[in-house]
This record gives sequence, structure tokens and C-alpha cells, in this order.
Amino acid sequence: MDTVYSRETTLLLTNLVVCDKDDKHSNQHKRSNYLSWEDYFMANALLSSNRSKDPNTQVGACIVNKDLKIVGIGYNGMPKGCDDDDLPWGKNPANPLADKHLYVCHAEMNAIMNKNSSDVENCTLYVTLFPCNQCAKIIIQSGIKEVVYMSEKCVDRPEYKASRLMLTMANINLRQFVPQTEKITINLKP
Ligand SMILES: [Zn+2]
Repeated sequence: MDTVYSRETTLLLTNLVVCDKDDKHSNQHKRSNYLSWEDYFMANALLSSNRSKDPNTQVGACIVNKDLKIVGIGYNGMPKGCDDDDLPWGKNPANPLADKHLYVCHAEMNAIMNKNSSDVENCTLYVTLFPCNQCAKIIIQSGIKEVVYMSEKCVDRPEYKASRLMLTMANINLRQFVPQTEKITINLKP
């Protein structure tokens, strides 16, 4: 449907077109290769994962509300106040106390805990790796209604099967991310 403008707005728009034609150097048309919302949100999750100090697995998460605003960002790391030089970063099945799994806060948990809104009810979580069972419980209890994940490389492990079971039972919409842009290059040097 065509937008109907007032007479004043139509006159102003006509002036804009005349100015554009007169100015040979201006580029008044919008870019066509801008990032899609989906790519933008997953790229935010990916960028956040670069903050992780875990030598083996770097995960990032980005929570988005229904107005397409980012309300939480997180990556996997040790809890606040716990020195990440003193806690273990490796796996140690023989000695669980020396295994990172008892200590690391996952990206999804950090994104929810770091939220800058009163809650994350009905939000969408973009995450670079399918959530584990511990994060699935937090996602469900937080009111998040959709999880968009990039990788599901651990899909056969019990914690990921339990996660999928709980998320599905709780009616959380699960979908794998489909990028529209293959690669984004960010130059930090002008
Ligand atoms: Zn997790």
C-alpha cells in the first residue's frame, strides 16, 4: 500500500528529489548490502565469544527483545570475583574439582544475568553453540521463547539431548541459524 502524506510533507519530499538531481556528488540512496537483523544479532554473539578466555570452547550469546533491541550479551567465563588465573580451564575427569565444568559460567547464563532490561520474557536468544542442559533450565525459567543457535556439534551427548527435550517440552522455538552473509570483516584500524 502506498503511503499517503500530507500536502506539506509531499512538497518537502519533492524538494528533496530536486536537490538530489542538482547535487552530482551526493549518494542519497540507501545501501543494499547492509546486514540483516539475523546476521547482526548472531555476529554480536560471535564477537562476544572472542572475549572468552577458554582455550578450547568460546561461546557467545545475544538476547533480543520483540522490538529488535539487544537486552543482554554474554560469553563463557569464570564467575565475578573468581580469579580466572587460579581456576582450571581444562577438563579433568579423574579430578572433578580440577575440571572447568564445575566453575565456568556459560554464555547463555551470563547474557541472562547481564540483561539491561527488567526481564527477558518473550525474547530471542542468539547463541553460537546449542545450549547445554544447565543453560536450557535457565533459559526456560527466564521466559525466553526462542533459541537461534549456530552450531550443534555436541548433539549426541546426554546433556544436549536433555537440553533439547526440556526446551521442546517448554515450547521454546528452536531453529538453526541460516546466515545471509557468509563473512563480515571488521577492521579495527581506520
Ligand atoms: Zn550451558
